[in-house]
Amino acid sequence: MTDHRVLVVEDDHGLREALARGLREEHFDVLTAADGASALRAVHRQVDAVVLDIGLPDSDGRDVCQAMRAHGFTVPVVFLTAHGGLTDRLSGFSAGGDDYLAKPFHMAELAARLRAAMRRSGNEPAGGSSELRLDPARHVLAGRDCSVALTPTEFRLLACLMAVPGAVVRRRALLRAGWPEGAMVTDNTLDQYLARLRRKLGQVDSSHSIGTVRGVGYRFE
Ligand code: CA
Repeated sequence: MTDHRVLVVEDDHGLREALARGLREEHFDVLTAADGASALRAVHRQVDAVVLDIGLPDSDGRDVCQAMRAHGFTVPVVFLTAHGGLTDRLSGFSAGGDDYLAKPFHMAELAARLRAAMRRSGNEPAGGSSELRLDPARHVLAGRDCSVALTPTEFRLLACLMAVPGAVVRRRALLRAGWPEGAMVTDNTLDQYLARLRRKLGQVDSSHSIGTVRGVGYRFE
């Protein structure tokens, strides 16, 4: 699969580095910018999606997005913000953003939202699980003919598995994707979630499943 180039615009150095590292692990090619002015320069470098912090030192991320749109860039934009309020979300969408994620968030969820935004905009490459779609806005798993609702934890686990079809995902990685740092989660709980996900997956698409690789982890296949 071709690496998709994502521009990460975030002024907080630590978070910017963490985002770049996390997205590279999710197989994205990552460019970074620390403010609105450099973001507007970097977007010229053929990026497939933009992760855009709203609170930037030189401008509001929503204004940066509007400026990109005004210059004819239709690239999908996912806003990041410390505020999860409805007003912020609506103003983000009216500024031309495609999605919105409140900090703190899970890397797997950001990656899933980026892929969904690119798919909606027609930037997603062919291949992978084309009949299955994860809708991050509604936490829904949609197949060709029907869909099922997922809990936020189920969504994060499945997004983590579906991000790397055919590859083994270790139990530890799933625990990290599914639950906040320091949460007490037993192996049994993870097993129960995977059993539920298998059932839901079976309801919408019988051609995919979650395989167990004994002693190692799980695989979306
Ligand atoms: Ca900021």
